[in-house]
Amino acid sequence: MSTPAAEPAPTALSADNPLAEVSALPHRLPPFTDLTLEHCREALLVGMAQQRAEVAAIAGSAEPATFDNTVVALERSGALLRRAQAVFYALSSSNSSDRLREIEREVAPLSAAHADALRLDPQLFARIDAVHDQVQAGGHGLDPEAVRLVERYHLDFVLSGARLDEAGRDQLKELNQQLSRLSTTFGQNLVVATEAAAVLVTDRAQLAGLSAAEVEAAGVAATERGREGYLLTLVLPSGQPALAKLHDRELRRRLHEASVTRASAGEHDNGPVAAEIAHVRAVRARLLGFDTHADLVAADQTARTSAAVDELLGTLVAPAVRNARAEGEVLAELAAADGVELAAWDWAYYSEQVRRDRYAVDTTALRPFFELDRVLVDGVFHAARLLYGYTFTPRPDLPGYHPDVRVWEVSDAAGAPVGLYLGDFFARDGKRGGAWMSSFVSQSRLLGTTPVVFNVMNVTRAAAGQPTLLTLDEVTTLFHEFGHTLHGLSSSVTYPRFSGTSVPRDFVEFPSQVNEMWALWPEVLDHYARHTDSGEPLAREVVAAIEAAALWGEGHGTLEYLAATLLDQAWHRIGPDTVVEDPQAFEAAALEAAGVASELVPPRYRTTYFQHVFSGGYAAGYYSYIWSEVLDADTVEWFKANGGLTRANGDAFRDKLLSRGGSVDPIGAFRDVVGHDPDPAPLLARRGLG
Ligand SMILES: [Zn+2]
Repeated sequence: MSTPAAEPAPTALSADNPLAEVSALPHRLPPFTDLTLEHCREALLVGMAQQRAEVAAIAGSAEPATFDNTVVALERSGALLRRAQAVFYALSSSNSSDRLREIEREVAPLSAAHADALRLDPQLFARIDAVHDQVQAGGHGLDPEAVRLVERYHLDFVLSGARLDEAGRDQLKELNQQLSRLSTTFGQNLVVATEAAAVLVTDRAQLAGLSAAEVEAAGVAATERGREGYLLTLVLPSGQPALAKLHDRELRRRLHEASVTRASAGEHDNGPVAAEIAHVRAVRARLLGFDTHADLVAADQTARTSAAVDELLGTLVAPAVRNARAEGEVLAELAAADGVELAAWDWAYYSEQVRRDRYAVDTTALRPFFELDRVLVDGVFHAARLLYGYTFTPRPDLPGYHPDVRVWEVSDAAGAPVGLYLGDFFARDGKRGGAWMSSFVSQSRLLGTTPVVFNVMNVTRAAAGQPTLLTLDEVTTLFHEFGHTLHGLSSSVTYPRFSGTSVPRDFVEFPSQVNEMWALWPEVLDHYARHTDSGEPLAREVVAAIEAAALWGEGHGTLEYLAATLLDQAWHRIGPDTVVEDPQAFEAAALEAAGVASELVPPRYRTTYFQHVFSGGYAAGYYSYIWSEVLDADTVEWFKANGGLTRANGDAFRDKLLSRGGSVDPIGAFRDVVGHDPDPAPLLARRGLG
């Protein structure tokens, strides 16, 4: 790998840099037409320097600290950097290039140092602490959003170690560096071990059950590694997709074993690495004043305490185990008919048989009903109009960051402008996989900004002149991502720190999950799901079959997810004095203690390949997927009980929850809408676990 030639950091923006000023386009849409990567690089570097100067002035002020001269001033700081980051990080995900990656490598360490310099500035923290004291003492005259902002800033700084003395700050930096090294090692070990664990097949007949294209891909994979035959490479969760198809039981066993023992022995054993990561995190949590790392994480989430996480997970374990066992009995019968005693590597294979025989849904036959633009305009936009009164007007005159990007202006029921929506739907080189929502501009009354929000997907483009047809999964994904968009568009807060989707991680997926409910809602579905040739609506029986099929396998799915979640919690509940010597024994004991140990259903991730928590951002936070789904399922019941798709329901959900972003207690906002504390019963019912 070549090192980019050192380029001098610019000290000022060049005269033609379009990021220098606030954009003059509607809703401050970035001026993409005139914008180059060099402009972005320059604005990022100069933007960081500008914000450091602004923050130094705030921290060094001779005036006594007040809410306005400290917290509000910080909210206003970094305007240039904010503009530059919004554009650059959008491009890095959806329109990357060699030059962009080069700039990313240059900027990443600078950006980390920039964040540290702000969060660990003792002079600045002293002022925030002083404002926090004033708020705690009462009589400050601040409105609730302002009070929450002070508390939020204070917690952000405390969690970053601002309350420590110099020795403590040094220790924290050292621990952070250790963690950064260890998680890099974990990730690298996993890549190498996963590659090494790929299963080589020399006899093509053993691959019976795979499609011709899959066999061919396995052949190419072998050739690429200089091997003879066919190579089945591993994907990340425990369950490998090929397990559902392979007829050869011995090959299924080999593939399963390779998957669940990944990175658990030899040179690339991640067991000791995971144990050390957990240990260092425990030490750091104690340094920051928490009992365990799980408590530190929960403090920043809507769950608030690890006891609340336990309570929820506790209600799910017994029904999930029961249903997985019942599913296992069905599968064991099928296996017995083949003269086989059901093992973990047979589960997906027989489960697929049940899905095929009992719930015949031909997914390819659905696609002609799901034409991209119809789904978007007559489905997603239509539901948003009926619920929230939003209308979407195409603005082909406004530029996106790529020719594929389309822009709509969003108005409310009274015709007043709300913001802009950008859609970037097709897969292309330089775009990372998956689907997401992000913002170019976040709504804020303080900054006078309205939202500019975008969705990115990876839909395969149809041949010229042909309609682009989506799969059912892609339809659901579009409704999901648009749920995040609605959160961003509906934002009505004063401070940018709280805008739109700036909510805790265990809450942010909730509004987007709720929006998925409209994809199969009869009134919406009839409006968009029309056969591209005949214009026929999708038959009711088909929809019923889709819904019934979705329930099969939920016992297994829930159990393997819970096992991974409880394993994540166990690793992050250890104290700073605990050193786990035998990671595999620790894992087995943790699963046993939580009541989720199963020969037939391994955790979705085992310790040695649990990338989310050992080298991603989900340490002690893997629970958040099901936490937000509890809120989602409960809210779906509330919509249904109140008449479904109505403006009254939409307005209540928007005014009390979506518009508030992070400016109020999220669970309080939920309670305002639904009328009670989160109740796991609707989720259990949805998953057939009630
Ligand atoms: Zn999402």
